[in-house]
Amino acid sequence: MPMSTRPAALNPLFAPVTALGGIGTKTARLVEEFMGGAVLDMLWHLPTGIIDRRYRPALVEVEEGRVSTFEVEVMKHEDPKRRGLPYRILCSTEGGFLTLVFFRAKADWLTRAMPVGSTRLVSGQVQNFRDRLQIVHPDYMLPQAEFEKLPVVEPTYPLTAGLSARVLTKALIDALSRLPKDLPEWHTSTLVQKQGWGDWHGAMMQAHRPSDSGELDANHPARRRLAYDELLAHQLALQIARRERRRQGGRAFDGENALKSALFGLLPFTLTQAQLSALREIEDDMQEPRRMLRLLQGDVGSGKTLVALSAMLRAVEGKAQAAIMAPTEILAYQHAQNLGPYLDTLGVKWQLFSGRNTAKQRALALQALADGTVDIAIGTHALFQSDVVFANLGMVVVDEQHRFGVQQRMELSSKGGGVDILVMTATPIPRTLALTAYGDMDISVIGEKPAGRQSIETRVINIARYGDVASRLQALLDSGQRAYWVCPLVRESAESDLAAAEDRYQELQKRYGDAVGLIHGQMKTPEKDRVMARFQAGEIGILVATTVVEVGVDVPEATVMIVEHAERFGLAQLHQLRGRVGRGTAQSSCLLLYRPPLGRVAQARLATMQNTDDGFKIADEDLRLRGAGEVLGTRQSGMPYFRLVDLDAHADLMEMAQQDVELLMESDAYLTSPRGQALRFLLYMFRRDEVIGYLHAA
Ligand code: ADP
Ligand code: MG
Repeated sequence: MPMSTRPAALNPLFAPVTALGGIGTKTARLVEEFMGGAVLDMLWHLPTGIIDRRYRPALVEVEEGRVSTFEVEVMKHEDPKRRGLPYRILCSTEGGFLTLVFFRAKADWLTRAMPVGSTRLVSGQVQNFRDRLQIVHPDYMLPQAEFEKLPVVEPTYPLTAGLSARVLTKALIDALSRLPKDLPEWHTSTLVQKQGWGDWHGAMMQAHRPSDSGELDANHPARRRLAYDELLAHQLALQIARRERRRQGGRAFDGENALKSALFGLLPFTLTQAQLSALREIEDDMQEPRRMLRLLQGDVGSGKTLVALSAMLRAVEGKAQAAIMAPTEILAYQHAQNLGPYLDTLGVKWQLFSGRNTAKQRALALQALADGTVDIAIGTHALFQSDVVFANLGMVVVDEQHRFGVQQRMELSSKGGGVDILVMTATPIPRTLALTAYGDMDISVIGEKPAGRQSIETRVINIARYGDVASRLQALLDSGQRAYWVCPLVRESAESDLAAAEDRYQELQKRYGDAVGLIHGQMKTPEKDRVMARFQAGEIGILVATTVVEVGVDVPEATVMIVEHAERFGLAQLHQLRGRVGRGTAQSSCLLLYRPPLGRVAQARLATMQNTDDGFKIADEDLRLRGAGEVLGTRQSGMPYFRLVDLDAHADLMEMAQQDVELLMESDAYLTSPRGQALRFLLYMFRRDEVIGYLHAA
């Protein structure tokens, strides 16, 4: 019998955290923000350190700041009588004296708990205060009869403001006591044995009760098992969704390709082999009566947009509407500028949806979409707001995948029934990671750039030579070419980013007057548009910018990219920035200005930029220098957000999960075997149960 509701055995894990001891509604709000609102979310918050109370040093060799344990004899209480001063208990221990310090102490409680002459086991962080060793608010003060109650090793957890270690630890002890003990095993016994893993309950317990710091390692068996659980649930959900999508009917667009031929006739160039073969894969998908969900991967400038345009024309020829969604207004506008003229010539009706539309314009445009007058809609992700209704949407192109994660994909898929989806990305990631990030999609790669592209001369220059660099721009302006001048990324705040750009703008204006423009993220859209338009028209020759120009902007006359404080940018970002030039026929260059001294990694990054312009090589190098966790661990990366997986340490597990699921899809396609039934638990546990509905055999 297929289950359609969460197995009851998992219910304790999905109880709200307020069910746990010591978590009231106020703390619950903090916990929810920090790690999630269910008991399970708290349980996935694993310790990052331990306190080893076995450390019982002699007083002379005590390490300040380290948690230590001492057997002491209480000598004397000092009750300060004056407010503000701490209460002290002087103790003797082997080799000297130790003071216990209490602020806002309850004197009578302390006199009762720590009578003079008694022996106590105290444990806490040792400090040296005016040459006296002291412990402020010891964690433990146990009488002799309770010595064995001192925990040997205690886990420590990442905390957030307002959530104390005491509260969190206590709640977790409660949470651990609620762990279901005999869930069915969802891994094969072969794997569990080979890896030396315990069962899920055991792994959870061990992960939270490390007995030494080695058990905190991502590669400790308990941690690996939990990570594999998460990866398997993820991969399983992706594959089931993928299969369902393929099973679901889609529309078969199998026209004559007359619009495509007409388009190719208009282009001043021919498509590269790589573009053509990607297009063929897309057309094959579109031609089949099944639903397309395809990733089009290609370096900046590889010509993805034209491939997408051709695919959209195929949908239009099939009497459907198509939409292309860009991540920013500027890019949507640019798509309109670039594609509009072709579409006009071809007699295809298109409409730009933008934040700059007046309410009236928007209403008209929406009307035209809804009644089918418009064939192609161009806009941002706002195109998928609920008030946007298409008469007959057949295909969606999503530009710049990295802001568009698994979750959004799943939402989009569930929205337009049968709509073909093409997602474009310039972010190359290695195969293993790609299957983890995009396992629900088919992938096409444009692995070559149009021939005859000028290679971009890249130079790394000390900022001390700023004067030279700035004065050489005169020649550039004289020849009608244009330059971007991108200003430092200042990590602390957007304001200081802006200040640096404004300073540079003013300095360059002194030299070049009105030929210099400024664009930054805090400008309103119409303002940005105006500046961009003036740069495109050549009224501005030098465009000083914060990183708003990063993604996709296309101005063929721009031949120089100057990046100030290049050492502060990541490789991927530098590569994207450099991709803004070299789009026309003139020789282009990229100047990376740095301020010494350069750290080792920054040096390696700049050298990589100088040595290659291959986006895949650069991405590999980026992973090597920074690690996958750094590169892909952000929500912008398109990589799913994992709780227990370490992208660097668990790469091998990703591959295992992929193979595991592949086999499973063949042998137990609908998860009906005992293992399959157990895997359903796993899907619920990791909240991937939206795919459970797809598990009844056709
Ligand atoms: P991407 O989106 O992959 O970064 P674009 O589609 O914006 O790249 O293409 C970059 C530029 O190259 C555009 O100006 C486009 O017109 C041009 N282009 C595309 N394909 C070719 C080709 N086969 N030959 C020459 N130029 C091309
Ligand atoms: Mg593009």
